[in-house]
Amino acid sequence: MKLLLPLVSSLAILVSLRAATPVSLEQQFNQLRKSPPELYAFLLRMPKGGDLHNHVGGAVYAESLVRAAAESGLCVDKRDWKIVAACSNSNQVEAKVADQDNGTLNALIDAFSMRDFVPGRESAHDHFFNTFNLFNLADKGHAGELIAGLTRRAADQNESYLELMALAGSGPISDLGASTGLDASFEKTAENLRKAGLPDLVSGLEAKVDEIETQRRADLKCDTDPASAPCKVVIRYVYQVLRESRKEQVFAQTLAGFQLASIDPRVVAINFVQAEDGINSMRDYHLHMQMVDFAKGLYPNVHITLHAGELTSGLVPPEGLRFHIRQAIELGHAERIGHGVDIMYETGAVDLLREMRAKHVAVEINLTSNDLILGVKGNDHPFPIYRKYGVPVVISTDDEGVNRSHLTQEYQRAVLTYGLTYADLKQIVRNSLEYSFLSGASFWTDSSYHTPIKACTGGVTTQSCGAFLAASEKATAQVDLERRFREFESHTNKR
Ligand SMILES: [Zn+2]
Repeated sequence: MKLLLPLVSSLAILVSLRAATPVSLEQQFNQLRKSPPELYAFLLRMPKGGDLHNHVGGAVYAESLVRAAAESGLCVDKRDWKIVAACSNSNQVEAKVADQDNGTLNALIDAFSMRDFVPGRESAHDHFFNTFNLFNLADKGHAGELIAGLTRRAADQNESYLELMALAGSGPISDLGASTGLDASFEKTAENLRKAGLPDLVSGLEAKVDEIETQRRADLKCDTDPASAPCKVVIRYVYQVLRESRKEQVFAQTLAGFQLASIDPRVVAINFVQAEDGINSMRDYHLHMQMVDFAKGLYPNVHITLHAGELTSGLVPPEGLRFHIRQAIELGHAERIGHGVDIMYETGAVDLLREMRAKHVAVEINLTSNDLILGVKGNDHPFPIYRKYGVPVVISTDDEGVNRSHLTQEYQRAVLTYGLTYADLKQIVRNSLEYSFLSGASFWTDSSYHTPIKACTGGVTTQSCGAFLAASEKATAQVDLERRFREFESHTNKR
């Protein structure tokens, strides 16, 4: 018996490391499913880990964009509700007018988002992508403060991590790509870009991250109040390659993104963005993946997540639905796939699902976005298929400002549409840190999050675990998530 005691106590520590789901909580959750508003209130408080698919450009609500435009003294063209630099004719008014006029503000909100959108001559897909051209001037000089707003919203929903797509290679990097051109040899083109000054432009991006982070932290007062909930949300950035650019520009952007992520630890990955069904995106898809493959060879430690399969039947010819996800993984080295909506149209779809499971390629699921842009929802959405084949999934927002959504609502939608249990949700939330690009090793050794790493089997306060956690941002966030779950569940059980 004596021999058993240490084993029993270490088992108890093991159990306490992982916040197990009390049976009564699952029963409560079953009841909540019948009442969406009560379910919402539960999910709002529930820890959600990270939002791994979140474009800053589309995450800011129209109200904040209008405020930023007003502060910058910009104007609005009332013919198409576009933000313009200056008022130069009678159709243009100062953006600050929207502060006092509900009619103007409401028209801007509808133009900048999917709110109240009725498809007519403009499709939902086109309205979504057109919004960005209307407000892209508004955030100039305000990026850090707008991201502070996103950070507050994340903290309000008990999120602990945001991986924000925030930087793009438009402007001077694209210009350099255009003037340098694309040689038949990627090596030669990369060399030409280096000689033409690409590293200096990458330093400029690094300075931009400094500026954003300084403004964001100042806005949240993180120097004086570092323990506040928003200041505890960890922020990392993902560089965006604009896939609708010309191929020589895409190459320059890709190379710049890999260089940036290799030198700046705040930038953890690259992604390809913009409409996947666009002319250049469709025509150059394979070439784009070859570019990513080339850049990954130069910078093997840079993480890659790719929008792939944000397509549906009819949007593009059937041939266009057959290979994007597979090439993103097999040629583009994608560790995560954004959307993956057309998976079952891929050649060898079931084999691909098995490959994704085997390679631990996670899918960033954006339910509201897929409904609004592609019209894919309910049983037509592959979310349950990914789960059926054991492909890891995370729930994310995509463009919460344009979609007038937020992460709690995405979870609510997932629960109500697909009958998820509370245990399912915990698995998905834990996935959001496991498949994040935070540095360091995982706290967990198994995909069901039962067994911690050896250094921590004696508890998180042991010396070995302390040393391990000090070297791993990811594991630190994972331990914090378990603490949040314990707190949330004990509070919920007392109700
Ligand atoms: Zn996206």
